[in-house]
Amino acid sequence: MRVSSGFIPTVKETPADAVIPSHQLMIRAGMVRALAAGVYAYLPLCYRSFKKAMEIIRQEMDAIGAQELHLPALSPIELWEETGRVKAFGDILFHLKNRPLVLAPTHEEVICWLAKNHISSYKEMPQIWYQIQTKFRNEPRPRSGVLRGRQFIMKDSYSLDSTWNGLDKSYDLHAQAYKKIFARCGLNFFIVGASSGAMGGTGSQEFMMESNAGEDIIAVSADNSNAANVEVATSRVPAAPRDSESKALKEVRTPNIKTIDQLAEFLTVDHNRLAKSVVYWADETPVLVLMLGNDELNEAKLMTAMGTEVRPIEAEKLLALTGADGGSIGPVGLRERTPASAKFKIVADNRLRGANNLISGANKNDFHIMNIDLERDCTIDSYYDLRTINPGEESPNDTGPLRVVKGVELGHIFKLGTKYADALHAKFLDENGKEQPIIMGSYGIGVERIIACHIEQNHDENGIIWDKSLAPFMFHLVAVGTKSKTVIEASEQLYAAMQAAGLEVLFDDRTDVSPGFKFKDADLLGMPFQVIVGEKNLAQGKIEIKVRKTGERSFVEKESLILHLKSLIED
Ligand code: ATP
Ligand code: MG
Repeated sequence: MRVSSGFIPTVKETPADAVIPSHQLMIRAGMVRALAAGVYAYLPLCYRSFKKAMEIIRQEMDAIGAQELHLPALSPIELWEETGRVKAFGDILFHLKNRPLVLAPTHEEVICWLAKNHISSYKEMPQIWYQIQTKFRNEPRPRSGVLRGRQFIMKDSYSLDSTWNGLDKSYDLHAQAYKKIFARCGLNFFIVGASSGAMGGTGSQEFMMESNAGEDIIAVSADNSNAANVEVATSRVPAAPRDSESKALKEVRTPNIKTIDQLAEFLTVDHNRLAKSVVYWADETPVLVLMLGNDELNEAKLMTAMGTEVRPIEAEKLLALTGADGGSIGPVGLRERTPASAKFKIVADNRLRGANNLISGANKNDFHIMNIDLERDCTIDSYYDLRTINPGEESPNDTGPLRVVKGVELGHIFKLGTKYADALHAKFLDENGKEQPIIMGSYGIGVERIIACHIEQNHDENGIIWDKSLAPFMFHLVAVGTKSKTVIEASEQLYAAMQAAGLEVLFDDRTDVSPGFKFKDADLLGMPFQVIVGEKNLAQGKIEIKVRKTGERSFVEKESLILHLKSLIED
């Protein structure tokens, strides 16, 4: 491709609405243009990279025996009503005005419809079907460029199995394929075990990349071997101590003490003697949650523990129920003070299990109780892991301190089980002639995310630094000094020879821009190797090669250039 006649609308200025590097660079490098919020046109350079990512995905999916098909984006709304997902997706789902159709945000329903009509026996499974296809989601805040589009390309695959063991196998095949795909794309990723309770599945993992552009918060060990969403992450932290003797309860006056730090200072005790109370509603039930010291309650964990929505109790409601303000609430005597109808639940974080000689609120403003033994002095309904981990705490698999980072989800693998088959009555006859629901898995990868994440991980102040696996072109041939006939002739010859040799080359043959301008563009577009044809070097029979990633320059005999370039690709 020639720069002079190609469609590569580069721009100098960073667009104001683009805040993350990949978004800025994709616009500056003439890769994408926004047609509407979250809706992008993919221009030729961009689409070349997309095709490379898609080819890697195809190869690895084919290698696990997956079969490619292509499903429609338009989908009858009835199907989505039957699975309850019109409601579940809510405003994310795009509806059509003049037909009872939706624009599919994913394809479990359609796959299930196919399976229901065409799979009738255990003998016809396992099956893995995949497609690389456009998805539509009315994302509320599409502001990260193609990382979160309202229309995007997904590789989605679905496994159909007759046994749960079969599902495990299909899932593992995907996990292996995903590792290969992201490694081949040169992405530095980690795998997060996700809690999939809400979606009704039996297991799921997310493939994530660390990035400030991410919207998920992940705790990850130094070697990436342990990663978990902070909503479920745990760490190795010591439990509160238990003394051999539980001392007698004692009420103390603690005037104007508002925080745990003030309390620890006022009573000159260690934080691990303090049981902090926070009060929530779980549906209509008030729940006192005890946390150790300054540990922060994780609402997501509380929600999982309660099995329902939770929200902090209103200050005035708490006062009305207990006669005390938030800072003075505690487990001792709480149920006795509050109306029986309130049915107060008391739960505590695992770190407090079995602790004694603790200090907590007295359910009376400006008073605390000392020497509480949680087993002797009150009834804790249940202990759960409820705390938010802190950076620097030891990883649960003992691989050093955890970091808390932002992450972008590249892919997701999910054991769906029979949720969709149950809803849509997709059944088969098992070995004993008994009807069973088909067991499904679903697996997604975002094509745009591969490219945008790659750019997030590989760029500098001058532009993109493509990995060979995803680069739109492997070589950027730059003719320097375009007033010189020798340079023009030599670079034209080289361009033809490179193409004849099957090398992917972008040729900056422009005669109306300065060499400096061309070099800037070459760095911005970021092809792995720049092949520079200049008059001075030519006079010595040499061509200059610059490695974009390292800036390293070398000079190669013109005669052996093609062989040399081939060896660069193979490295
Ligand atoms: P997120 O939490 O980031 O919204 P998701 O959980 O909704 O992701 P899935 O439904 O699992 O994502 O979709 C599978 C894959 O499709 C994701 O792993 C991601 O790579 C990609 N993807 C999802 N939503 C978008 C989007 N709006 N724009 C681009 N890619 C997306
Ligand atoms: Mg989403």
